[in-house]
Amino acid sequence: MGGWLQAARVLAGAVVLLVASRAGAVEPAKRHRVTGFEVVQMDCMELATGRVVHATRAMRLDGAERYLVTDVEAVTTRLVAPEALDCQEPEAERRFEASRFGRALFGATVAPYPTRNDGVQRAEVPVQGLFLTADLCPAPASKFAGRLFAAIADLSGEQGGPVPMGVAITGGWLRNHAGRFAELVALQQAGKLAVTWVNHSDAHPFTAGLPDGENFLLTPGLDPSREIEAVEIALLERGQLPSPFFRFPGLVSDQRWVDLLLAYSLIPLGSDAWIAYGQEPTAGSVVLVHGNGNEPQGVTSLLRQLPRLQALGPFLPLAQLFGGPL
Ligand SMILES: [Zn+2]
Repeated sequence: MGGWLQAARVLAGAVVLLVASRAGAVEPAKRHRVTGFEVVQMDCMELATGRVVHATRAMRLDGAERYLVTDVEAVTTRLVAPEALDCQEPEAERRFEASRFGRALFGATVAPYPTRNDGVQRAEVPVQGLFLTADLCPAPASKFAGRLFAAIADLSGEQGGPVPMGVAITGGWLRNHAGRFAELVALQQAGKLAVTWVNHSDAHPFTAGLPDGENFLLTPGLDPSREIEAVEIALLERGQLPSPFFRFPGLVSDQRWVDLLLAYSLIPLGSDAWIAYGQEPTAGSVVLVHGNGNEPQGVTSLLRQLPRLQALGPFLPLAQLFGGPL
């Protein structure tokens, strides 16, 4: 239960949660070195832009001090140097709490804590368009829904730019699919996909037949800090930015986990349109399919529905669940 004790330190308002390096748990082909990774909660003014950001992690990236921050109005993340921020400005905290990000984070982490599908399931404002998300739960190295990513990337021509897509990634998938991950990064670099990396936990445990209360992240004995942080570190090592979104494996959670996401400044992301379950997307839906090849019927159904979905509007970045671009 050491993990929960660690987590409780965060909940108790401890600013810093020291974490050992995860170097042994990720692919050897590292591009960046992440050390001294810590969970923080600081509201700061960005000196160059005057924007308010919520700093959520501190680290050394290739030896240089960096904060991972969420822009509280754009709801996007970036890495900044400490000297680029003023974190003593008392106005920043008030502006965070009233911001899109603050309201979304607090609004998505309150009672009643349903076991299934807690968190944001669809846009909280009227929008024309949909939010496409693909889960990369652990899967054998031979499996991958490449046709999904290829078909969505192909829409970039008619959509007039990279197609936004939330990709919910696990450490377990990444460890088996270094080449596929590189393909997704290449689609971004080619301007075809704009990926928002959603944390989907490190191990993503699942045992068929077990009740929800003992399954997925509710499996006894997990280290919750590791489940959250290992994926973030793995992304940063590969030059990718973790977003402020977390998707619970199986969409199963409890109050402890939701409280923990709040302590980590992460918004739980559910779905109101899990395609393989026949849930029909409407404008503003968070659409869920599996990109790991484990649910091919969902991908087939999505690709068949694409013309109808496109008529509802373009695929939008998850940051716009709470309002238009800023
Ligand atoms: Zn999953």
